[in-house]
Amino acid sequence: MNLSDLDHRITGCRACPRLVAWREEVARTKRAAFADWTYWGRPVPGFGPADAPLLIIGLAPAAHGANRTGRMFTGDRSGDVLYEALYDIGLASQPTAVSVDDGLELYGVRITSPVRCAPPANKPTPEERDTCRSWLVEELTLLRPTLRAVVVLGAFGWQAALPAFAAAGWQVPRPRPVFGHGAHVPLDGLDLFGCFHVSQRNTFTGKLTPTMLRDVLRTAAGAAGLPTTS
Ligand code: SF4
Repeated sequence: MNLSDLDHRITGCRACPRLVAWREEVARTKRAAFADWTYWGRPVPGFGPADAPLLIIGLAPAAHGANRTGRMFTGDRSGDVLYEALYDIGLASQPTAVSVDDGLELYGVRITSPVRCAPPANKPTPEERDTCRSWLVEELTLLRPTLRAVVVLGAFGWQAALPAFAAAGWQVPRPRPVFGHGAHVPLDGLDLFGCFHVSQRNTFTGKLTPTMLRDVLRTAAGAAGLPTTS
């Protein structure tokens, strides 16, 4: 089993009836602005190299973003913010992400999420989060040989990711470390960082500024041994 086999298996998952129904309904009904798109409408696999030393963990695909394009954070405002920041610090080949064939490459970074299907109102249930965990555990296990640092975007991702790290073999402290922007938890051989999610609610209100995002990404890249630009 390698990472591309795993990515392929993920795209066929139908384990959560509510999310399967929602992702497919959104793909059928579409948003007017994307009426000429054929929506992906399936689980979204991780994006980025299989030997990445840095991993970014989000929440779940957006209904008209990754659920439309089939690639993490691609085709929505959250992704615009994230990829622009990655490009600015030298970890992405371009600042925009609009479709799977737009030429975007990530350098030493992989992006994934603990829930792979777009949930209604961006809110997976705890049961759906737990059902999807096994995919993240498999992904972490495959990434482990090269993985050195992780940025988790938001409290939901943090709460979903810690048990996945534990299940994949890392020693995660108990009680579980608390999420916060700039939180830093050293696990064995891995540095875990918290960052507010790149959601519109956070970026439009200034809760997460471009500087704050770049600072966390740059710090995590340094911990992963990746060179960045200023
Ligand atoms: S959320 Fe995860 S477990 Fe549930 S159907 Fe999608 S891929 Fe499968």
